[in-house]
Amino acid sequence: MKLTSLVLVGLLGFTDMSQQPQRPIEYSPKVIDILVHLYNKHPREFPLCQLGQKRNGTYYIQDVSIPHVFYTDSIGTNYDANDCRKLKNYLGMIHNHINKNPCAPGLIDMIRFTSKAEERTSIESVVCHTSLDSNSVNIVSILKTRIPDSMIKRLRFLADSLKIRNNK
Ligand SMILES: [Zn+2]
Repeated sequence: MKLTSLVLVGLLGFTDMSQQPQRPIEYSPKVIDILVHLYNKHPREFPLCQLGQKRNGTYYIQDVSIPHVFYTDSIGTNYDANDCRKLKNYLGMIHNHINKNPCAPGLIDMIRFTSKAEERTSIESVVCHTSLDSNSVNIVSILKTRIPDSMIKRLRFLADSLKIRNNK
């Protein structure tokens, strides 16, 4: 059985949005299928551009696109972010965390998501398995509208301090 669950992560803690009548993000069956098949047994991190649109307060992810991947291993990936940014319906990245990585965007993910280069994006998502043999995935997403401006400023300051570039 294929199953996906969506949990929105606030910066101050986890919030289970399943109690709310309208989910802020909806994935199409096609995208869920792709995520389950691509990520279920993938031994490395792999990035995808999330494509869709916002209607009546909900982001609908209707498709994904594969950017050019320069490098990938079990803890990170390096890809051409412009392959996603040039797409009209690009809403943000989704990638998998494997092994013992927390099932949520990490600091480097957040620095990229809040960078000026990604200003147009709204959603940063991470996919995790519920178990290695299962056909289900969990998707944990952060909406940019839920991140306080002060936090975005801090992340940009941190990126400058660490000389992290977000061209790629
Ligand atoms: Zn990550």
